[in-house]
Amino acid sequence: MVRMPSVDSAHTVRVRVPAKINLHLSVGALRGDGFHELMTVFQAVDLADEVTARAALGLAVRMTGEGAATLPSGSENIAWRAASRLAEDAAVAPDVLLEISKAIPVAGGMAGGSADAAATLLACATLWRTRSTKAELLDLAGLLGSDVAFPLLGGTALGTGRGEVLTPVLTTGEFHWVLALAAFGISAGDAYRELDRLRAAGNAPEPAGKPEVLLDALRAGDAQRVGAALTNDLQPAALALAPALRRTLAAGLDLGAIAGIVCGSGPTCAFLCADARAANRLAASLAAEDVCRTTRVATGPVPGARVVA
Ligand code: ATP
Repeated sequence: MVRMPSVDSAHTVRVRVPAKINLHLSVGALRGDGFHELMTVFQAVDLADEVTARAALGLAVRMTGEGAATLPSGSENIAWRAASRLAEDAAVAPDVLLEISKAIPVAGGMAGGSADAAATLLACATLWRTRSTKAELLDLAGLLGSDVAFPLLGGTALGTGRGEVLTPVLTTGEFHWVLALAAFGISAGDAYRELDRLRAAGNAPEPAGKPEVLLDALRAGDAQRVGAALTNDLQPAALALAPALRRTLAAGLDLGAIAGIVCGSGPTCAFLCADARAANRLAASLAAEDVCRTTRVATGPVPGARVVA
């Protein structure tokens, strides 16, 4: 049970943190530590969660919004783990009430949980005045999970290792996306196991490898070429686990998207559009088809986690 302190109630830090789309996801060999070697290109988009850290006595998490009712509010919540880990590292008491407002779909392949952990690191470091550097927070993020570092950085970045070794990628202009949110989730672990199974049976392609064509298209700001270069090695696994996603992808293309792809381990599908108007039109017409729970428009790249109040 967390209690609000009587004198410190003005101490509140609100952080906004973006979801990610993998524009390229090459899944390489399974490593000795149980993780796959990845080569991925992340783009941060303006579908965002907000984490508010309030001065309190004790640690507690409260969640509202998209999928919140399905999530743990105790120590299994990755935001809780992020706060305790930072407190331990900074040798401060883990005194904070974390209020998480979710817009990023849960188990949707858009790293919502990782985004919440990243936002929590920034919010608590600010609230507790730990004086942590960005590099220290990025290191801590890498220890909390493969996808936690990227939402701190934002923009567009190449991720190697487990995805946590990040190099910023140069892009020109904005990219306009439509996201088709599903009525169910896919566990990332299940998707990776399914890919291993498909590969062992010779039913999935070899790792996509380096994203050179994509990086060139991003530099040029050429949406058509970016669309043609979108790659996700996990897509066959997501489609095997959720065959209905084939209809979602086909509908988006029929309705005029430049290209469509499963986000990470799925089941969210992302459609690239020529401009904001085309994205709004596609979001409305796709929502009217019976191929997803709902749609959202999103623009990228956007900055990583930042304090907004
Ligand atoms: P990724 O793209 O990194 O594989 P994802 O978007 O598919 O992740 P998440 O929404 O990050 O999936 O959540 C995966 C699981 O993590 C959830 O099913 C949930 O049980 C657990 N979890 C713990 N804390 C959180 C949180 N704050 N938000 C979302 N999920 C959380």
